[in-house]
Amino acid sequence: MNKPKNITVFIALIALGVLFQSWGFYGHRRINRMAVFTLPPEMIGFYKANIEYVTAHAVDPDKRRYAVEGEAPKHFIDIDHFAKEGEDPFKVMPKYWYEAVNKYSEDTLQAYGIVPWHVANMTRWLTKAFEEKDANKILYLSSNLGHYIADAHVPLHTTENYNGQMTGQKGIHGLWESRIPELTADDYDYLVGRAKYIKSPLNAIWKAVEESHSHLDSVLFIEKDLTRKIPSDQKYAFETRGMSTVRQYSQEFALTYYRRMGDMVESRMRKSIEMVGSLWYTAWVNAGQPNLDELLGKIDHKELQEKEEEERKLLEEKKVKSREHEE
Ligand SMILES: [Zn+2]
Repeated sequence: MNKPKNITVFIALIALGVLFQSWGFYGHRRINRMAVFTLPPEMIGFYKANIEYVTAHAVDPDKRRYAVEGEAPKHFIDIDHFAKEGEDPFKVMPKYWYEAVNKYSEDTLQAYGIVPWHVANMTRWLTKAFEEKDANKILYLSSNLGHYIADAHVPLHTTENYNGQMTGQKGIHGLWESRIPELTADDYDYLVGRAKYIKSPLNAIWKAVEESHSHLDSVLFIEKDLTRKIPSDQKYAFETRGMSTVRQYSQEFALTYYRRMGDMVESRMRKSIEMVGSLWYTAWVNAGQPNLDELLGKIDHKELQEKEEEERKLLEEKKVKSREHEE
């Protein structure tokens, strides 16, 4: 009988599918796509012409997470790990990388996440790509930067209790950032205004992380409260996805949870879009506002495709087990 084995494979595949969704793939793609429309006239032509690329590649960093060593910590920061009871973790943790390394060591920072510093670094790399007028690099870095910015806007990306595993709420990560956007994101208002110049990307992303973290108590408390009120046979439901049947939070539970949180999910998504556009714009301004229309003909589609193929192979060949922190 090989049935048990098949079941194991089946469950593993579902788990993988769930793990790969952050902001749902759906949310990440939407955030990068909508960020294009925040850009000024000098930039929007280039990005609009490549909107399918920046949309599709919004999820690359999550695909890499399980294949590339050192990738995972770029998606989160467990800021509460660093504070003792009653302390404000944002006062305890130095904002600058070298000060933080001095205080905690690089190994510790890598273990508990580095998303703010990674966003600041990527903004610098994107600035350099604009300076070099390297169209391919601009597209690649813009898409990836969008992903990490969006991750920093998710409350559960700022805590050691990232999947409710410390409070008996396992699964809450996917509920908040995948299930809810999937059910509701078509109705969000995506007009967030124009991209703004950000003087200090590092300060801005730290502020975003702090805001995300300030929502954490509500994220956890409301789920706990609903779980107490809604019987578990109504909390979960079986749904057919393609060829398979999966157990997940019922629509009713997810939507009630969503409504109890007010506009939190929508507003974190809107702020993500705003900051993605603003950091693309900031990098371009810092690079001396190169003429992007001239770069339109210089995109090497073959090279982009090869890079894509390379990453796909990497993912297949080398599945490094990383910590299970979800996307
Ligand atoms: Zn991620």
